[in-house]
Amino acid sequence: MSTRPNIVMILTDDHAAHAISAYGSVVNTTPRIDEIAAAGRRFDNCFATNSLCSPSRASILTGTYSHVNGVTTLVTPIDASQPTFVSALKEAGYRTAMIGKWHMGDGAGHDPQHFDYWDVLIEQGEYVDPTFLDKSGLRTEPGYATDIITDLALNWISTLDDGPYCALIYHKAPHRPWVPSPAYQDRFTEPIPLPSTFHDDYETRSSSARRAAMRIAEHLTLEDLKTAPPTGLSYEEEALWKYQRFMEDYLRCVASVDDNVGRVTDFLRERGEFNDTLLLYASDQGFFLGDHGWFDKRFMYEESLRMPLVLSYPSRVAPGEPIAEMVTNVDWAQTILEAAGVEAHPRMQGRSFWDLLQDGLSARRDGIYYRYWEHDDVFHKAPAHYGYRTARYKLIYFYNDGMGIPGCGWGTYPPEWELYDLETDPAELHNVYDDPSYLGRREELKVAMWREQARLGDKPHPSQPRPVGA
Ligand code: CA
Repeated sequence: MSTRPNIVMILTDDHAAHAISAYGSVVNTTPRIDEIAAAGRRFDNCFATNSLCSPSRASILTGTYSHVNGVTTLVTPIDASQPTFVSALKEAGYRTAMIGKWHMGDGAGHDPQHFDYWDVLIEQGEYVDPTFLDKSGLRTEPGYATDIITDLALNWISTLDDGPYCALIYHKAPHRPWVPSPAYQDRFTEPIPLPSTFHDDYETRSSSARRAAMRIAEHLTLEDLKTAPPTGLSYEEEALWKYQRFMEDYLRCVASVDDNVGRVTDFLRERGEFNDTLLLYASDQGFFLGDHGWFDKRFMYEESLRMPLVLSYPSRVAPGEPIAEMVTNVDWAQTILEAAGVEAHPRMQGRSFWDLLQDGLSARRDGIYYRYWEHDDVFHKAPAHYGYRTARYKLIYFYNDGMGIPGCGWGTYPPEWELYDLETDPAELHNVYDDPSYLGRREELKVAMWREQARLGDKPHPSQPRPVGA
């Protein structure tokens, strides 16, 4: 038996962990994703280091943070020649493919590299009859994107003979504008439970967070909703109507994803490869599903920061308890390479968590560093911030400055801090930054964040004073 696993990564776009039944969803079930978790492991604290589509994809591929790979916002395209886990696998003899939503820029220098086969959507792509780009040019594929992307991936694998392969199956779903397959048009019509923080009044939160144009009640468009709200509703009634309408389509898109995850699993079993395949299901970041009254992501708050990640590899990873250790999307590249026995590129900045899948005994990191760069973009108005999360605390510095980076707005605002105690306040409703009883902890966290920035080669914003002791 080969010790080199096949690598199959199914990555979706904006699928929150709390819309996966393996993670305890109360709004839907996802039996085929759950099956991977049951055959392998579920990560409960996997975090995006920049909760936005293109930057997360670049971090996953390159094993580096946004300030190193250069993909800080949605409009800073990747230099696709940089080393990735895929380039390392290819050099080691793997056959490699990228199918679906690339979304890190199109054109020379930005199209996928290091893949034997690539076939991708243009920018955000379409749900219905999508346009694909491959080495021979553009074409339209009739049908529903989630089904087509799976078809193309399985067709490619079917052409391979013995020897390991790496297939990246990257879906558009369930990204905005949440267009479901006609097959699921009638699902989820019962009232969908509201999250407990739907009515968050942001009382202790910074004004930076309040500025975001991500409110279910106010910022979903007619394209998102597909139909205008009934007339005569109160503000509150209309907010609830919009929540239901948004969630119906979001969950229908997820239902297609789950079915197509099952198609991949069944296919691998039929080929006799399931046990020797490192099969990952994940999303590029989390998503607010009405949490804090929002949709979208971007913020360092839990629902957006947390990435669902389940994986199976039965011949070398025993099923077990969910993994609570904090890992990040920057860690995946080195983890995959370690599983394949291939050396990682020295510029990679993560930490393989392969050991957690073996004995689970290694000392882990104290905290994770986060930075959202796309300040004040025209649609979402989310503020630039960075922060540091430990197992218990989360410190956030809203520096509120686009720094001239493409994709950012020109508005700047005074910097603000937030601090949350995740043990006493897991929903992050009480900013305790100015609470005297947290003063010592807060200053320690500032030092830890400063040091982590230095270690990673990122620069604190000029407005942030150097913490005492750093
Ligand atoms: Ca995304």
